[in-house]
Amino acid sequence: MKAIYTYTIKVNMAGHPVCQDCVDVAVFPAGDRSFLGCFASNNLCLADYPTNYNNNEVRAATAYAGGGTNWIRESVWTPYGNKVLAAQYAVTQADSKIMILDTTKTPIGTTGIIPLTAYTTVQSGYIWGPEGIGVWPHFDRDGDKISDLIEATNADVLFIDLQTGEMRFFNPTVPDVDPSRAYGTYDNGWLWNSIRLPNEGIGYRHFIGPASELGKDNWGILKMIQLIEAVGREWNQSHKEGPRISIGDISPQYGGGGLGHASHQNGKDVDVRYILNNGTEGPMDFCNPPTCLATAQTAYDQSLAQELVNLFIKFGANQIFVDQLSGINGTGVTQQDGSCGTYNPQTTKCTLREHSHHFHVRIP
Ligand SMILES: [Zn+2]
Repeated sequence: MKAIYTYTIKVNMAGHPVCQDCVDVAVFPAGDRSFLGCFASNNLCLADYPTNYNNNEVRAATAYAGGGTNWIRESVWTPYGNKVLAAQYAVTQADSKIMILDTTKTPIGTTGIIPLTAYTTVQSGYIWGPEGIGVWPHFDRDGDKISDLIEATNADVLFIDLQTGEMRFFNPTVPDVDPSRAYGTYDNGWLWNSIRLPNEGIGYRHFIGPASELGKDNWGILKMIQLIEAVGREWNQSHKEGPRISIGDISPQYGGGGLGHASHQNGKDVDVRYILNNGTEGPMDFCNPPTCLATAQTAYDQSLAQELVNLFIKFGANQIFVDQLSGINGTGVTQQDGSCGTYNPQTTKCTLREHSHHFHVRIP
């Protein structure tokens, strides 16, 4: 990693621990402190900015531990609990460690040896190495209530700023306003300044249907994209090991038809797969193609599917269409049944019972 500041650390203040061969620096967002990760002395060394950097000095450090068998290779600050994490590289599993420093115990001006109570060092059979360390980035750096991920995913999509009339791009570090607008109806509508769903986010993924729909079925108004994101984050809280939510068709970039649905025309409809109990992310079909005889499916998990539908309603969906065999119910939920029709080899689906392999979420 490149250090942000170009000062050379040459001097340790008298009486302060040694900081030798520092190879990385973790800088606080406020710019008032930084921690140097030091290879040869295997400690984290605190420098206040700018006072002590100007004197080429560090103020405090964890105890010197050089001459051992582990060495700090990289350090990083994480907003989660204001910690600095350091990867301690070693060739043996027993000496491979992660150091976690609680920076609330090292305020500006801290001097001397940082006490053992300020940090923990973690070792486990699952860590070997490690040569680097990273953290999940901030969710919304510019504080505009649109996530960095959505902004970055749409950073190449030109839109017209509805307030200024200028052509613009989303930017994760510059506050943006929602440019998207839905027009017309669900069945006969179009989209203005639509937003692209990321291929994958916290708790969800977009799965690719027919190749002809690649990049064409993942557009909606911002409210729809953020609904999926909000449900995914909440789902992830209780299902960290998966399965993720599998998102199918939303709308084409400019809305209208073309995805084989009557609706999905103005960026306010989305198809979602049912949740299964076998650890996979589908597919599953109550219509059993190619026989097209509707029966319950053993892989289907009704309680997980109901939990997911409840989340969509909690975060703003007002209509959800499900298959009758799903057993899902609730406010705004419509169960549908009827014939499965006949097998269509092109879509590999049965022709009539539309929600046998996914449920349909609609927002107002
Ligand atoms: Zn649908």
